[in-house]
Amino acid sequence: MALIDCPSCNKKISDKADNCPHCGFGLGEASSEDIVRKQQLKKFKKLHSIQNQSMFAMLLFIAGFGFMYWGGADKGDLQYNLAVLSVVIGFVWYIVNRVRIVIIKRFSS
Ligand SMILES: [Zn+2]
Repeated sequence: MALIDCPSCNKKISDKADNCPHCGFGLGEASSEDIVRKQQLKKFKKLHSIQNQSMFAMLLFIAGFGFMYWGGADKGDLQYNLAVLSVVIGFVWYIVNRVRIVIIKRFSS
């Protein structure tokens, strides 16, 4: 008996089980083609959500950057500090999302 990942919820299940005990996914009924299709759909959705997040991170970065230069707040002001903070968060978040996309693309193809 070997453990495999449930194609629906990704938890470890026995390869002899007909149904996933966690989510009830019917392994017996699903052809390998169904499973592959389901995994690809999940990967696509995940990539899509990460891409949305990196878009948002970039907007945060640009907005913070623009405010730093043209917002009229002086260094040390709360608004200025918030702008710097959003630049930093936006930048780091963007990088993290790019790395996640690369990892997903590299390891699941
Ligand atoms: Zn499951």
